[in-house]
Amino acid sequence: MENRTELTLKIDHLNVSIKTENGLIKPVNDISLEIPRGKVVGIVGESGCGKSMTARAVMGLLPPATKIEGGSILLDGNELTGHSEEQLCGVRGSEVSMIFQEPMTSLNPVMKVGRQVDEVIRVHQKVPLAEARKMTIEMFRAVGISEPEERYECYPHQLSGGLRQRVMIAMAMIMKPSLLIADEPTTALDVTVEAQILRLMKELNKSGTSILLISHNLGVIAQVCDYVYVMYAGQFVEEADVFALFDQPLHPYTKGLLGAVTSLRREEAVLETIHGVVPDFSELPDGCGFAARCEKCMERCSALMPRMAETEPGHRVRCHLYSA
Ligand code: SF4
Repeated sequence: MENRTELTLKIDHLNVSIKTENGLIKPVNDISLEIPRGKVVGIVGESGCGKSMTARAVMGLLPPATKIEGGSILLDGNELTGHSEEQLCGVRGSEVSMIFQEPMTSLNPVMKVGRQVDEVIRVHQKVPLAEARKMTIEMFRAVGISEPEERYECYPHQLSGGLRQRVMIAMAMIMKPSLLIADEPTTALDVTVEAQILRLMKELNKSGTSILLISHNLGVIAQVCDYVYVMYAGQFVEEADVFALFDQPLHPYTKGLLGAVTSLRREEAVLETIHGVVPDFSELPDGCGFAARCEKCMERCSALMPRMAETEPGHRVRCHLYSA
């Protein structure tokens, strides 16, 4: 991604490790990523590839025994690695927010949803409760929650899945952060509600919010993203403009993911599958992490780690098929 001067997020050679009984594993292995201001950037890959761990590293919400081993995370030019928990609390919610797959597990079940959004406001701004309530109701209206005054008084279980996700988006957007991270935001929703939530995210993006969208679903990525990173076994294996990635995928893993997407225009009756499963991080080969599942695997693939190579401006791939 070249010639970008104004970046909301710049991750540079980030490494995250977890201490396990079998030694250190690296669910995020030397990744670099950029989100230009006002753009939507996607990370796609199967479950267990390191996508969510990348998002959690940005939010400073890594699980116990997990730590950033090296690299840099710049949010609006400010380095986040090395921030104390207190400093991160000041950043979370106000400068970067996150929405998760299942809002029911993220919302407090015994607190009215409106009050939960008020709380976010009052953590970051000294405003009276009545003022916070007014801001919350305005935001509910902005994210398409009908009858916002009534919904404000509801508990999470009284709302549908789509409305709960809208509440989460309202909560994430209430302080107008520069960056919204959406981790599988539509996976738990049916397709009609998914379309509404994706439309809402596009509207938020048009109003200036940069978005990092994490999904295992290339169909979702195609609808919203400008640029896409394909992640496998803790590394980015391909990155490109969304049109280039869909028109000319290069990495065998990306081709496999695209082959597994349903489409009304598909002529083949049978969907392709990628055989095998995502490898255990403690059993990765020295070379390409995809070698055990790759039909193009060559002798050097398991022994030698392929490097990222640029095939076209802005289109990069980590595969020996494209290295000189
Ligand atoms: Fe397949 Fe080798 Fe490319 Fe890995 S480096 S994706 S094993 S061809």
